[in-house]
Amino acid sequence: MAASTWFVSDLHLSAQRPAAVRVFFDLLERAKADAEAVYLLGDVFDAWVGDDDLSQPFATEVTNALAAYAGAGGRLYVMHGNRDFLMGERFCLAAGAKMLGDPHLADLYGTPTVLMHGDLLCTEDVRYQAFRHQVRDPAWQADFLRRPLADRYAMAAAVSRENEAEKSQKTEVIMDVTEAAVQDLLRRFDYPRLIHGHTHRPARHVHRVDGHDCERWVLGDWYRSASYLACTPDGCRAEQFGSAW
Ligand code: MN
Repeated sequence: MAASTWFVSDLHLSAQRPAAVRVFFDLLERAKADAEAVYLLGDVFDAWVGDDDLSQPFATEVTNALAAYAGAGGRLYVMHGNRDFLMGERFCLAAGAKMLGDPHLADLYGTPTVLMHGDLLCTEDVRYQAFRHQVRDPAWQADFLRRPLADRYAMAAAVSRENEAEKSQKTEVIMDVTEAAVQDLLRRFDYPRLIHGHTHRPARHVHRVDGHDCERWVLGDWYRSASYLACTPDGCRAEQFGSAW
């Protein structure tokens, strides 16, 4: 496998978007030869309401494709997003993936690199941060997971609809990362490179913090087209995969 590490996030895969799912499987197939590690930095699934739903056909298909990559010798890492924060141990076992905390500090070919989903950096979105705090609470999660699957899907769909409605009310600034939050994080981790998704604003930024230039890569979402970030010992590059659908 090549000395290349790939990052994707915000694929928002669901049985309702089969084209995106197919392209993701193609990407994993390609990764078997071209990437020694793949990091899924959150919101891979549009909704994940609990590992007890692993046996549904869509979930099985995806976990099998992930496990095939891991089985071919690829290292696979996952991080929770704001949609799939209930992916648990059973999911990881089925997919052959290792769960990472958020933020996670990785050594990427000698360059310290902090990996995040990205939602923690959107500190201006006070309502979202309150929601995040609630749904990351173990007691809330235990209560949610006790409900029937149909109820959980209905609740996830309601949250999704509410988010869509709210998005049109929120300003662009609120939905993006806060510069101060980025700077705090870069300081806390001793001026690393940063890779995250969530905002759906793919870009490469350079933040100058206390005299250090820190690279910040924002991953693209998979709503309009498929993309990933490929990092090698020489640096990172945003790549498109296949054509738009
Ligand atoms: Mn997200």
